[in-house]
Formats: sequence, C-alpha cells, structure tokens
Amino acid sequence: MDAEVIAVGSELTSGQKLDTNTQWLSRRLGELGVRVRYQTTVADELMDQVEILRAAAARAQLVVIGGGLGPTQDDLTREALGIVAGVALVEDAGCRRDLEAFFSRRNRPMPVRNRVQALIPEGAEPLPNRVGTAPGIWLEHGGTIFVALPGVPGELMILFDEQVAPRLRATGRLGPVRVHRVINLFGKGESELEAEALDLTVRGRQPEVGITASDATISFRVTGEGPTEAEALAAIEPTVRLIYERFGEWIVGEGPVDVAEALALELARTGARLAVAESCTGGLIAKRITDVAGVSPYFMGGVVSYANALKVSLAGVDPKLIEHHGAVSGEVAEAMAAGIRRVAGADLGLSVTGIAGPGGGTPEKPVGLVYLGLAWGGGVEHRRLLLGSEQPRAVIRSRAAKHAMNWVRQRLRDWPSRDEPSE
Ligand code: AMP
Ligand code: MG
Repeated sequence: MDAEVIAVGSELTSGQKLDTNTQWLSRRLGELGVRVRYQTTVADELMDQVEILRAAAARAQLVVIGGGLGPTQDDLTREALGIVAGVALVEDAGCRRDLEAFFSRRNRPMPVRNRVQALIPEGAEPLPNRVGTAPGIWLEHGGTIFVALPGVPGELMILFDEQVAPRLRATGRLGPVRVHRVINLFGKGESELEAEALDLTVRGRQPEVGITASDATISFRVTGEGPTEAEALAAIEPTVRLIYERFGEWIVGEGPVDVAEALALELARTGARLAVAESCTGGLIAKRITDVAGVSPYFMGGVVSYANALKVSLAGVDPKLIEHHGAVSGEVAEAMAAGIRRVAGADLGLSVTGIAGPGGGTPEKPVGLVYLGLAWGGGVEHRRLLLGSEQPRAVIRSRAAKHAMNWVRQRLRDWPSRDEPSE
C-alpha cells in the first residue's frame, strides 16, 4: 500500500508553524508497512484542497490528512472530502452525542459552530475522538482510503494509534514491516566516508543504506523489511555488522547517540571525572555534556576562560606562555587542560582555544584554527584543527566542541571499566 500524507493549514504553508504531524505520521505508516511516497502541504483554501486530494487519490491507495477539522470557517477538510467523493455532508448522530457530552463534561454549553464537527461526508465512518472535539473521518472512495485527522498533534497521534492503525491492519493490505537503524559516525569527512561505502549505498541494494550528515555527524541509515519487526531487524543485521567492522573507529552510537551522549557513556563506564577550560567554545562543551542526564558523577564542570586574564587566574596558565605563543596555541591549550585538571582535581582536563571568526584571523592564525588540549594522569597533549576560514562562527564553535569531546571519548575507549580491576 502506498500512501500520501497531507498537512492542511495556512499556518503551515505561511511558515508560521512547523508541520510536525507529517513526520510523525510518515514514521508510523512506515512501521505499519505502508510506504509514504508523497508529502503535501496545502493552505486553508477549499479548491486547493480538493485539487490536492484528487491528485493524491490518483497516486496513492491511502491518503492521510492532518488538520482542517476544527469548528472554524477556515477548517475545510470535511467539505473538500465531500466534494471529492461527490457526496453531501450529513450529521452523524453518534458524533453529535460525543460533542455534546464533551462540553457537558466541561460544564459548558456547546457553541453553535462546533455542530459542524458532527458533519461527515455521506458514507464515511467517523473516528471517535476521546481527547478533543474533532472526530476523524475514514472515507473509502474510488479505490482510495481517505483518513482525515484533527491537526492538534496529541489528538492526531491518539486517533491514529487507536482508530486508524487497527483499521489499516484489518484491510489485510499492509506490506512488510519496515525498520531502520541509524548509525552515527564522527571525525571523518562525508565524501571520504561515502567513497568507502559505495558498495553499501548503491541503489537497489537490499537492505537499503542511505547517508545523511548533520553538524558534521555522518549517519548511515539502514532500512530493511520483513513480515515481522524481528525478522526485518534480523534482515538488516549483517549490513549493520559490516558497517561496524568497516567504520567502527568512527562510530559514536546509534539513533539519538551523538558525540556528547557517547562521551557521557564512556565517562560512566570508566568512572573518569572530566573538567573543561573553554575559550572559543564559550561553554558549549559544558552545555552539551550537561544536556545529557546523569553526568554529575563524572562531569565536574569547568571554566569559560575567554579573556587571557582568566586563562591565567582560573585555568592556571603561565602568562609567559600566552606572551610567547599567543592565546591560540598548542602550548596554551596544553596549559589550560593541565591547569583545569589540577584546579578541579579531575582525572581528565580538556581545553579549547581558537579563532571562531568572522574577524580576528591572520595569515598565520586564520579563522577556524583551533587547538584542543587534553591532560590526564600520564601527561598532556594538544591537537590542531583547521575548521575552515569560510565557515560561520556557529559552525566552527560546534565542530570544535564535537572534536574535543570526541577526542576524550576515543581516549577513554582504552580505559578499563570502573568495576574491572585495572590489571
Ligand atoms: P486544525 O485541525 O487545522 O484546526 O488544527 C488544530 C491545531 O493543530 C492548530 O493549532 C494547528 O496549528 C495545529 N496543527 C495543524 N496541523 C499541524 C501540523 N501538521 N503539525 C503541527 N501542528 C499542526
Ligand atoms: Mg487549521
């Protein structure tokens, strides 16, 4: 079964509001074995909606519409469905009773305009809404199933799960279950990775592998099918294993696990306590790590030592180092890392100093030049990054933070687990 998802509302087409329903519906449909081939958004204009519904009916067997079922003049999904099916709108006695009950539970008289919410195209089936006023609509016409759901995301989700999914299963027309695993990598360029994965990403390969990039994290998305979820997952397992074998050193985790989450996991595993001294990232590393719940036993905190004076007073840097090498230098990065480790009494000290731009670059020290420092019981090191003088400030800062966190994560991979004896 192929589907089209349609979002209805001028607040969506005008950019006032983000359409979150389509993403959610498309995911759920995919999990049910329905392939979403089109996503369409249309304003609150009756004839535009009619046109879109007709086009959708011509190319999909299932059309799921979100929005336009409210009581107000601009909510026209009922009317549009009636026109497409060539039927009148009729009052559904059950919907009328539900609506009246909804308002009497709230001790309020039912506004006259809410009566339209009991209207459905003749021959359609109402989908009772136990959390709001707008019932959904199930309408079969010309070989196409139309499902209209209220736009309020919470109502749309409950109606879909409770009313629509069981009816779709009952059609006996659902395809195999589709599952995905998303494997996230950091530290290697997208084109480089892509070149090493051509055999995986080639069109027509089963299971399908796609590559996406977001904030320098590259993700392999492996999609598979099977009669059940367990079988679909088993079908993609060998491909997932291949990705781990080939790209293991770059993999930070799956699904929502990006560099910060992966670092938090390594800190928890090893029990190592980390402190940071940040200059050009201005607290971004501390922010990202503390975004992860449960890090307080391992992440001690740090300083935003932006001014040289604070690199000296708070991060314990010898002012002569700044004088001789400049604040953006490997020497100062190392001194910051060692200093914050000492000041905090941490196992690991991490530092960042760099030029985030857009100003402040020189031929010797261009925008995008960043030094990271890492101090641990065994010594201190620095790394030099060139993140691109053409890159916006926000990109340079974010990349610097991710590279810094990833360095600690990689370093910790060789550390024993907290509970293991270190011998
Ligand atoms: P409606 O059913 O069109 O009256 O929409 C009811 C509420 O749900 C309004 O606040 C809409 O802005 C919101 N809404 C409608 N469609 C969407 C959507 N696709 N994503 C997120 N919110 C939506
Ligand atoms: Mg609307």
